[in-house]
Formats: sequence, structure tokens, C-alpha cells
Amino acid sequence: MFCYQCEQTAKGEGCSNIGVCGKQPDVAALQDLLVYALKGLSVYALEGRKAGVNDREANVFTVEALFSTLTNVDFDPQRFVALINKCVEIREKLKGKVKAAGGKSDYAEAAAIFQPEQNLEGLYCAYARLRQVPVL
Ligand code: SF4
Repeated sequence: MFCYQCEQTAKGEGCSNIGVCGKQPDVAALQDLLVYALKGLSVYALEGRKAGVNDREANVFTVEALFSTLTNVDFDPQRFVALINKCVEIREKLKGKVKAAGGKSDYAEAAAIFQPEQNLEGLYCAYARLRQVPVL
């Protein structure tokens, strides 16, 4: 793992084995994956704005999901499995709304077409592929 999100970070440089806050590598990986999924959602949130679509569900979810990745907010791996999958579910719904409004709905960026696994093991593998690191 590598995290330099907050002022507690090891040596002022970054936590790499376990977080000074207690964050474990599995949770760090899932949080990174959630932020990645949110990037994909943001592609359609931005496109939606151009097409006149302002989706409250996507907006509220984005704030809540990002908040869950802040220091000491949530260290439950299963919670991140649910959030990552919910993020992609909302992205796909928003994509449909954007398409219906005449916006572009075929973005090919990896984050915009990311399809998560439903379980921890699958998500760890997805993270390892994304970051090109060994599977946890
Ligand atoms: S959030 Fe935790 S793991 Fe990340 S820099 Fe702060 S103390 Fe380290």
C-alpha cells in the first residue's frame, strides 16, 4: 500500500506497510479502487452537465463515498465492496440518462467501463491488475 492522504503519514512521506492510523493494506487497496470507480462515475457526471442532466443520486453518492475514504472514517472491507459496486451501478444508470438527453455515452476510458467483482478476492485481483502489484 501507499497512502499520503493525511498529516499523520509516516515520516511525512507516506504510509507503506500499515497506516499510522491503523489502515490495513486491504482497505487501502479497496479505497483506491473506490476512488478509481468514482473517476468513472465522474466522466458521466460531467457529460451529464453538458447535456443538462444533474443527477442527485450520483452527486450525493460521490460525496458520501469520497468521505468514506478519509482517515479513520471506515476500515470495513465489506463496506467498500458494496460502495464500489454501487458506484458502478449508479454510473450505468447515469449513463442511460445522459444518452437519453443526447449526451455522449460511449466513453472508453478504463475507469468509465470498469466492471467490479462482487467479492473481496475479485476486487483485490482487479486492484493488483490496475496498479501492477502482487495480489494481496
Ligand atoms: S490516512 Fe492513514 S495510511 Fe493514509 S497517510 Fe494518513 S495515517 Fe497514513
